[in-house]
Amino acid sequence: MHDNVRDLIGDIWLSGQLGADFTAVCDTGGRVAGTDSETAAQSYLEGAARALGGEYREQTFTVTGLRSDEHGVSMVASGRELQSYPLLNCAQVDDEFEVIDLGRGTPVDFEGARDRIPGKAVLVRHEFPFSTNHVHRGVKLELARTYGAAAFLIGNNQPGAGPVSGSGGAGEPGEMPAFGLSYDATSELSTALAFGPARVRLFNRATPGEWTGRNIFVHFPGRTQEHVVLSAHIDGHGLAESAMDNGSGLATVLEVARRLGPLAADSERGLTLALFTFEEWALTGSAEYVASLNEAERSLIHCNVNVDTPVGYPRLFGLTAGHPRILELLRQASVVGGTPVHPIYAHTTNSDHANFLAAGIPAVRLIGGYNDDSAGSRLLLTAADTRHRVEPLDLKHGAIVTALVTLAAMGA
Ligand SMILES: [Zn+2]
Repeated sequence: MHDNVRDLIGDIWLSGQLGADFTAVCDTGGRVAGTDSETAAQSYLEGAARALGGEYREQTFTVTGLRSDEHGVSMVASGRELQSYPLLNCAQVDDEFEVIDLGRGTPVDFEGARDRIPGKAVLVRHEFPFSTNHVHRGVKLELARTYGAAAFLIGNNQPGAGPVSGSGGAGEPGEMPAFGLSYDATSELSTALAFGPARVRLFNRATPGEWTGRNIFVHFPGRTQEHVVLSAHIDGHGLAESAMDNGSGLATVLEVARRLGPLAADSERGLTLALFTFEEWALTGSAEYVASLNEAERSLIHCNVNVDTPVGYPRLFGLTAGHPRILELLRQASVVGGTPVHPIYAHTTNSDHANFLAAGIPAVRLIGGYNDDSAGSRLLLTAADTRHRVEPLDLKHGAIVTALVTLAAMGA
């Protein structure tokens, strides 16, 4: 092992700043884009990014949507309140709906109930999102629209973690109201439906809003114009601290940029740290960045290393879309670090790397755990995504592996 790699691993292992950044980001709260919590995180991250010493730059853009002011879901027959949370951009509503329970809510479930769905609220289940065979909430929401549902309810599959959140659309007129329910609320509703028809009252008072998104960049030039974009998303959900998703990723990329930025000048390729926001809103921040680049600028990005939830599991996985350049980087990092980075070949669209892939730029998402629903990521988007769920060892391990992947990509 080269001395510089040994030093790099040792420096990250002993770094006090990694944990300090993680704690400071969690202290700002859930960081829903456009809220005071996100603004507080932005100002902390701006300070941390400027302190790295590279070329600091920002990109701003405008986002419109709906913000919920007051909300609730209750059983009409009993008047009982169900533990619920409006999905991001949930439409305004104050009405009663008959509910149909579609179980998981797969395409087959929807097709089988095709005649019974129009005008009803569909109840589906949240699933462990990081496996090859899961059906994403966005797909279920689209099926609900296609089959003519009037409202969308998604039940948490994790007991004791409250309702599940997530994106509920673009906040445009005519969209259906969409709520997350807790595991217990889902059981209560599902049991009632087993005995006969059941109705729920859905209430959401929402205000249309316009927000300014701000992406943060720090560039360290290399020997050539080519560079590696190391990214993490800033924003999160309102139910907890968005600690795993993605406080852990933010602390990781800051730490890696702190260690690798000074090495860029002697590396074949430079390093660009990118902190994107409005990720939870259909990956808007990174889409704005990629859209701002011309063809020549895109071709100078050797790859995107996107860090989203690198914790919650003792081993790291790379979502590679099967790109040979990325597979080679993971192999090198595994060999050099003596710790495996497992490649997943599926083309995934669950974080900012998807916008790079869509533009023809090789990209990888690094994540802790895949295809194993015991991973901490089973609790993302719930009240359980707090700092206490993050093992310091996982955070350090994720940062070391991210550094080795990025170092290999820089050709250092
Ligand atoms: Zn995320």
